[in-house]
Amino acid sequence: MPEALSPGSIIGILGGGQLGRMLALAAARLGLKSHIYSDEPDVPAFDVSAFSTVGSFADEASLGAFASSVDVVTCEFENVPARALEIAGNKAPVHPPAKAFAVAQDRLVEKDFMRALGIPVADYADVHDEQSLRDALAHVRLPAILKTRRFGYDGKGQALVRNEAEALAALTELRGQPALIERLVAFEREISVLVVRGQDGALKFYDPVENVHQNGILAVSRVPARIDAGCVLEARRIAGTVAEALGHVGVLCVEMFQREGEAPRGEASRLLVNEIAPRVHNSGHWTIDACLVSQFENHIRAIAGWPLGETARHSDAVMTNLIGADVERWRELACEEGVAVHLYGKAAARPGRKMGHFTRLLPKSS
Ligand code: AMP
Repeated sequence: MPEALSPGSIIGILGGGQLGRMLALAAARLGLKSHIYSDEPDVPAFDVSAFSTVGSFADEASLGAFASSVDVVTCEFENVPARALEIAGNKAPVHPPAKAFAVAQDRLVEKDFMRALGIPVADYADVHDEQSLRDALAHVRLPAILKTRRFGYDGKGQALVRNEAEALAALTELRGQPALIERLVAFEREISVLVVRGQDGALKFYDPVENVHQNGILAVSRVPARIDAGCVLEARRIAGTVAEALGHVGVLCVEMFQREGEAPRGEASRLLVNEIAPRVHNSGHWTIDACLVSQFENHIRAIAGWPLGETARHSDAVMTNLIGADVERWRELACEEGVAVHLYGKAAARPGRKMGHFTRLLPKSS
């Protein structure tokens, strides 16, 4: 077991959004302090952290000074530049490892990585110009989704294409950004698995979550997911395999589709991996209220070299995001029995912006 950081130590967090805020709150419960590094002022995590720096992720001097002032560095968003991790890594331990970000930041690298591990993914092909798109359409069946390789999140940088003309038009829209095309999956449900891996390689899993997206953005997560015991085991096996192959330390989220129908011949289950996030994840917010130790605390425990905490669920839960003007429901939700309201302290409720969430707890069913 590595030397655990003592209470009073400082956790450095790259990024200052709501995930950074909830990480800082969890760190505080363990007597640890947080130092947030953000390229914007007035971010949600600044309200709850002991120290903050506003600086660009390209400002090497500022990043170096930040990393020198903390005991460990982690990230709350996945598109952190590789160079920023390298600079930080010269001054302090960085968890999760750079490899986890390199894989998660590029959808093509991510899919190749899964395939090399024998983990099923939707049929896909690299698309970088018109010719490669035509070649791709020879073996990726339509309908399909054209996705940018990098900087896509919450459904951004994606287009559904039903025929070659639509695919060519979508490619033009991308203005030369490298992309991939992947087959549209007919799925019964989307699930995600949150796994936490310690510095000593210990693995713990939260129960698989069932997710509903609206306009590409997560709307609702519920546990338990309506999947059978075999599927639960297979989902965990996949998430554990990915965490180990990355040498991950901290929380990792693996998003999967459960396909319609039967498992194809030669495959262990109906699951296909969609993507991974090398960090705490929106589909794990329910763990704050329905588990003794949340995803946020377990991430902090892992990167601080502490023993991992209990991931068992004491209640069923339904987590609903408050997006844009939904946040105005806070008054009525605050009166509801069995509901925990979480608001992120963001001033402007722009459409599509995650302003908060609420978790409804229900008696444990299974
Ligand atoms: P992503 O940014 O890749 O997670 O995509 C956002 C959402 O779009 C997913 O959670 C799915 O609801 C949907 N989606 C993405 N890729 C596919 C696919 N190949 N087939 C069906 N739905 C997809």
